[in-house]
Amino acid sequence: MTPCHILGFPRLGKNRELKFALESHWRGQTAAAELEATARRLRANHWALQRAAGLDYVSVGDFALYDHVLNHVQLLGCEPARFGFGAETPEIERYFIMARGRAGEAAAACSCGGHSSAALEMTKWFDTNYHYLVPEFDADTQFRLASERLFDEIAEAQAQGHRVKAQLIGPLSFLWLGKSQGMERLELLDRLLPAYGAILSRIKGMGVEWVQIDEPILGLDLPPAWRTAFEPAYHRLAAAGADLLLATYFSPLRENLTLACRLPVAGLHVDAVRAPEELAQAADWLPLNKVLSAGVVDGRNVWKSDLDRLLGVVAPLKAKRADRLWVSASCSLLHVPLDLGAETALGEDIKPLLAFGLQKLDEISALAHALNGDAAPHPLAAPTASGQRQDPAVQQRLARLTPEAERRASPYARRHTLQQARLKLPPLPTTTIGSFPQTADIRRARAAHKAGGLDAAGYRQAMREEIRHAVAEQEALGLDVLVHGEAERNDMVEYFSTQLQGFAATQHGWVQSYGSRCVKPPIIWSDVSRPAPMTVEWAAYAQSLTSKPVKGMLTGPVTLLQWSFVRDDQPRATTCLQIALAIRDEVADLQHAGIAVIQIDEPALREGLPLRRAAWEDYLDWSVRAFRIAAGAADDATQIHTHMCYAEFNDILPAIAALDADVITIEASRSNMELLEGFARFSYPNAIGPGVYDIHSPRVPDSAEMAAALEKAAGVIPAAQLWVNPDCGLKTRSWEEARAALAHMVDAAGLMRARLAPQPPARD
Ligand code: GLN
Ligand code: ZN
Repeated sequence: MTPCHILGFPRLGKNRELKFALESHWRGQTAAAELEATARRLRANHWALQRAAGLDYVSVGDFALYDHVLNHVQLLGCEPARFGFGAETPEIERYFIMARGRAGEAAAACSCGGHSSAALEMTKWFDTNYHYLVPEFDADTQFRLASERLFDEIAEAQAQGHRVKAQLIGPLSFLWLGKSQGMERLELLDRLLPAYGAILSRIKGMGVEWVQIDEPILGLDLPPAWRTAFEPAYHRLAAAGADLLLATYFSPLRENLTLACRLPVAGLHVDAVRAPEELAQAADWLPLNKVLSAGVVDGRNVWKSDLDRLLGVVAPLKAKRADRLWVSASCSLLHVPLDLGAETALGEDIKPLLAFGLQKLDEISALAHALNGDAAPHPLAAPTASGQRQDPAVQQRLARLTPEAERRASPYARRHTLQQARLKLPPLPTTTIGSFPQTADIRRARAAHKAGGLDAAGYRQAMREEIRHAVAEQEALGLDVLVHGEAERNDMVEYFSTQLQGFAATQHGWVQSYGSRCVKPPIIWSDVSRPAPMTVEWAAYAQSLTSKPVKGMLTGPVTLLQWSFVRDDQPRATTCLQIALAIRDEVADLQHAGIAVIQIDEPALREGLPLRRAAWEDYLDWSVRAFRIAAGAADDATQIHTHMCYAEFNDILPAIAALDADVITIEASRSNMELLEGFARFSYPNAIGPGVYDIHSPRVPDSAEMAAALEKAAGVIPAAQLWVNPDCGLKTRSWEEARAALAHMVDAAGLMRARLAPQPPARD
């Protein structure tokens, strides 16, 4: 018999029930008990679905009201002392305070005084778009079994008659994912292990057969101390006597594969999608008394599996390992939408190619049944090869691309001279990142247009009014390079993906981003091209209203790729280059319409970086190439900007320079301009606009504060290279906030210009 299971299930429910239950609870409309009841119903439903699909175990411990890492913070009793929680604060209240911070008022009323109420920091879960809450450690952190939640959920599943596989994040990954102050977090391992021991004993005592213990950091380039910590740690955990299934995913194990095979656990899960070659190795190296869980169904993407091919992969393993082989998805299904069945508007050309979460359960089960030689409960059709995925014109265009297409005609210095002659910008030019406040009026117009209540002409009129307003505001503020404001865009990826050939949108394809927030990534399923201009009309209209230059605003090819589900029948690089050609066409059309400055946003360039350093070069190579192809349509006198935010740039500075954008605007205010030192050390050659204030906060800094930030920037980057701008787009702010902050920003630029201006000769 070949058992089958999953590493985790999407949490929010078919109709995002958890999202709405959470938000209603946060608004104070429903009690915690009601929220918990919704959560219980969802779990029961998720387990029933796993069971109905024919899985041998249901996953317990993957559910979380907000985030599974935060669940572990409570389970392990390491809530940061800075919150100052007293014994009287209920667990669920503490949970949401750590997740979301204390609201201003509650914090002021907090009698504890001096306790920080800021939420735990949030960051990306490995290379996914899921954000987890970062545990905080210091030298005083202690651990103990401190929450009943996991055990209650196990009991719940058992009461429903399920065979339970419990799951936990492993101790090494848990420490790795946290951050520590004034100490090495690995030093906490000794203190942490007894808490894990207690948890494992409790689980075992409940009659649970298997505990999945996730150590995804085994797929990273680990420092030696972390690698060597694994063996002794797992020997200590083994004392609890639970059968552990060590789960790894997202990345090849490489030098850690033998280590993983050697650990004293009862089984090992490998991600056979990200590292197909390691499956056979693991099958050879893993002792035969241990279970090998083969993650062959792609948990990170939406394509239907080729089950015949997968059967060919796992059947030889079965011959070797008999019932010590399990089948599964590569990773948790948290990262894919729940149900393809909910999509009624997807075309018959694309739909047969897809499998979402529920369909993947069926695939896993069908594969296990096929291995066992019996019929699956839901036999599946093989994916249909669709001829419509190919567009020979796009493929030929890419094949014929010359190196010149990736290069601007002249080097930066020459371009700068030509652009300056055309734009006549003052020193320290001021600009914004693109979006202006998305007001209720704008949302209403967009919704009415979508619902059919507002016709195309009426919608166009409404957007033009917004553009006119945004331009007037910017002129009044005295900004140097204006934008049209992006009123027509709901989302910087969706806006383009709905206009590009090769992208499909779903109706309900939600994936959790963090807490109650979801995204609905488009699906790139066929060759990409741009049937018609996408932004030219808005940009040209804005330009017609002013004599100041208006900056055209595009989302770059890497970001469009990164924030979509990408076809897996050709290399990601090829898809990205196709998108680059489409954006290149838009650059050419904007330029032709008289737009002299064009920004190509690439906020996702950094996050696309592979988890393993060895793969960086290849990725940076094609992603930089894609940007350069997109920008390469610009004449020397057209100024290309790019924008990136909220990422660690220092390790990819050469790639950022290789983009050869004339101007880069970046987030820098949160790090107090420290980010710029990397650019200075690297002697970044082109112009830079370090964000002088944080747009995520409603706080409006005064002009002196922004001038000080600029002063600091001018201390490391020659002033002649500097631009002045906010951190990011202003769409989440109100007009009052945006107007006030930008007025101070323009003043700050004025102050700095005066300080930098050559002093008139002193008279005597
Ligand atoms: N141009 C976009 C905006 O201003 C950039 C958004 C982003 O960087 N994520 O909203
Ligand atoms: Zn940004």
